[in-house]
Parts: sequence; structure tokens; C-alpha cells
Amino acid sequence: MTLATGFRCDDCRTRIPLRTLATLCPDCGGLLEVEYDLDRAHLPAGSGSGMWRWRELLPLPADAEPVTLGEGDTPLLPVPGLARRLGIPGLLVKNDALMPTGSFKDRGFALAVSFARSLGLERGFTYSSGNAGASFAAYAARAGLAATYW
Ligand SMILES: [Zn+2]
Repeated sequence: MTLATGFRCDDCRTRIPLRTLATLCPDCGGLLEVEYDLDRAHLPAGSGSGMWRWRELLPLPADAEPVTLGEGDTPLLPVPGLARRLGIPGLLVKNDALMPTGSFKDRGFALAVSFARSLGLERGFTYSSGNAGASFAAYAARAGLAATYW
């Protein structure tokens, strides 16, 4: 189940169905944001692990199988020295170096590649030779998609 109902353009407010391959608004080129039916939300998180506990808040069609490498559930670590220095008692830092490819970008690519597979895409592209490229390559390989990056 997902609470995502589709996408909406930040600029002209055009609405686009959830099962659409679009990165920008087809009418004006504006950025798209996910729309939700939050009246149906059941927070706190549901069952499952990692980021997929929040699946109903992710824009992935309900019948789509997530592509996962076990991302999420990284620890929050106390950083007392930094907390004192910044004057923020109880400050915690999330250690996303423990993600499958060592990057927080794994959450985004887990979702993006899951979405691409749900649309029946067979290949993908990202503009990165750094950790985004590595993350995309890992998730594309898990999904059986051909990956290209620059
Ligand atoms: Zn628009």
C-alpha cells in the first residue's frame, strides 16, 4: 500500500498519475513533488525493516516489489563533544556509512530503481562517477537493470 496518489508540479500545479515516467513537469518543466492522501496515514511506521517500514509514505505503486539490499536501520550515535561545541544537548548523528554501498544515497536509489522496475524499464542512467553512481549500479544490478553513469 502507498499513500502516494501521484505527482504535482511545484510551479504550475499540474497533476501527474503515480505510474508515470516523468522527472519534470510535462507542461512547464518544473520540479515534481509527491502528493499523499495523509488522511489514510497510520503513523508510526508499519512493519518491516529499514526504509521499507515507511513504505506507505513512499511513491511506489502498491503492487510493486521493492528492490532492496538491506538499506536503512543505520544507528544514531551520540556525539557529546560536537553537542557541547554546538550547544545542542543530546545531539545524535546518523551513521549512514553502514548503508550497503556506504552512502545515504542508497535510500533514494532503492526507491528510484524499484519505481523504474515497476514501470518495466530495462536500463537507467545517472550522472555521477561517485557514490551516487556506485549506489545506482548496485541497485540496478539487484533489479536486473542495465546501468550507465557518467
Ligand atoms: Zn508545471
